[in-house]
Amino acid sequence: MVHFVGAGPGAADLITMRGAALLREADVVIYAGSLVNPELLQYCRADCEIHNSATMTLDEVLAVMERAEAAGRTTVRLHTGDPSLYGAIREQIDALRARGIDCDVTPGVSSLFGAAAALGAEFTLPGVSQSLIVTRLAGRTGVPEGEALRELARHGASMALFLSAGMLARVRDELLAGGLAPDTPAALVYKATWPDEKTVRCTVKTLPEAGEAEGIQKTALVLVGGFLNAPYEKSKLYDAAFATEFRPARDGGMEKTT
Ligand code: SAH
Repeated sequence: MVHFVGAGPGAADLITMRGAALLREADVVIYAGSLVNPELLQYCRADCEIHNSATMTLDEVLAVMERAEAAGRTTVRLHTGDPSLYGAIREQIDALRARGIDCDVTPGVSSLFGAAAALGAEFTLPGVSQSLIVTRLAGRTGVPEGEALRELARHGASMALFLSAGMLARVRDELLAGGLAPDTPAALVYKATWPDEKTVRCTVKTLPEAGEAEGIQKTALVLVGGFLNAPYEKSKLYDAAFATEFRPARDGGMEKTT
C-alpha cells in the first residue's frame, strides 16, 4: 500500500493527525526534500527507510514503491502542502494503478492557507471578492492559453500564485495587462509557517522591488487582491439583523433560513 500524504506548509505540527499516524507506521517514506520540512521525519520509526525525492526521477520513485510493495511494506509519499496542488501525484497514482498497487491520498494544509494565516487574511471578503483563483505563471511547465495570468486577472478576484516568486516583473506585467490597477494590494509570503517565515505587503506595481528588497525568489506565494486591505462588508452570517437556521434575528431584521 502506498499512502500519498500532504505534509502541510512547513511547521511540523500542521500535518493532519491521519498524516502523522501514517508516517509513524510507515516502513518506507519518500519525501519531497526541496519543500517538505525535514522535522516531519521525526514522526518516522527509527528503522524507517527514508528517501529524498529531490534527487530522484519518477521511475526511481516508482521503483522504490514497487520494491516496498513486493516486500509487503507500507510506503508514505510525503508531498508539501496539499498534494492535489502542483504535487505531480496523478502520474504516480496512474503508474501504481497500472502495476496493481493500492494507494490512497491524505489531504494536507496547502501553503496558500499557511500564507493567508500568516497575514490574518480572508480570501473571500463580502463586497470585495467571493472567489479565489489559484494559479501560476507559465514556466518550464506551460499554462493553457485561456488561463494566462492576464486573462485570469480580468476577474478582479482574490489570487494566489504558486511557483512564480522568481518572476515578479512578469507577474506585475501580466496583472497590469489584465487591467488591475497598479495600486492593487499584493503580498509575498516566504516559507509560510516555517521558523524563518517572512511576509511583505506591497502593491502589484511594487512586487518586483518588494521581492528584491527582501531577497525572496522561491518558496514563496504571491497573493493579490483587494482582500489584502480594501474596505469590505461585514458577513451576513453573523449580522444581528439576519435570522439563520440556528439563531433568530435580533433587531427585527429579515427572516432568513440559511
Ligand atoms: N502542494 C503545495 C504546492 C507545491 S508547488 C501546496 O499545497 O502548498 C511549490 C510552490 O508552493 C512553491 O514554489 C511556492 O510557491 C509554494 N510553497 C510551498 N510551500 C510554501 C510555503 N511554506 N510558503 C510559501 N509558499 C510555499
